[in-house]
Amino acid sequence: MLNIITNPHPALRQKAKEVDLEEIPKLHQFLNDMAKIMLKKDGIGLAANQVDILKRIIIVNTKDGPLALINPKLLRKSFKKEEAEEGCLSVPDVFGMVKRNYSLTVKAYTKDGQEISIKATGLFARVLQHEVDHINGILFIDKAKNITKGKPRDEQDKL
Ligand SMILES: [Zn+2]
Repeated sequence: MLNIITNPHPALRQKAKEVDLEEIPKLHQFLNDMAKIMLKKDGIGLAANQVDILKRIIIVNTKDGPLALINPKLLRKSFKKEEAEEGCLSVPDVFGMVKRNYSLTVKAYTKDGQEISIKATGLFARVLQHEVDHINGILFIDKAKNITKGKPRDEQDKL
């Protein structure tokens, strides 16, 4: 089982490295383990930095289950932005309002090495921006306003 590291662990502040495409078939166990721990912790997203692996890999929970995105790139970010409350599995019990682009397109490789492009809006776009920040060494508390500490509310999303 993987462990989720928490702030101020130095791996949360490093820029993760691109994954070589030949390496993707060897990552299946790791991707499954990441999905497993994300679901166990009720997360809706998880970046490899959060389990102390500095590779450009994120997992997002979708209506069809966890989706692994390798070397994700965020394109066509909307001019429109939206502010909403965020939390993070690596910054426990801290919440804050973060302004994010309302919609964007993510280009990435799947666990099968297929290149995909998905348009995301709202919460899905927010999760993608939060997770791509992680693989760039950025935490939501760097961008958040009105930071509060305390017990999370039931409906809080953990990213
Ligand atoms: Zn996070």
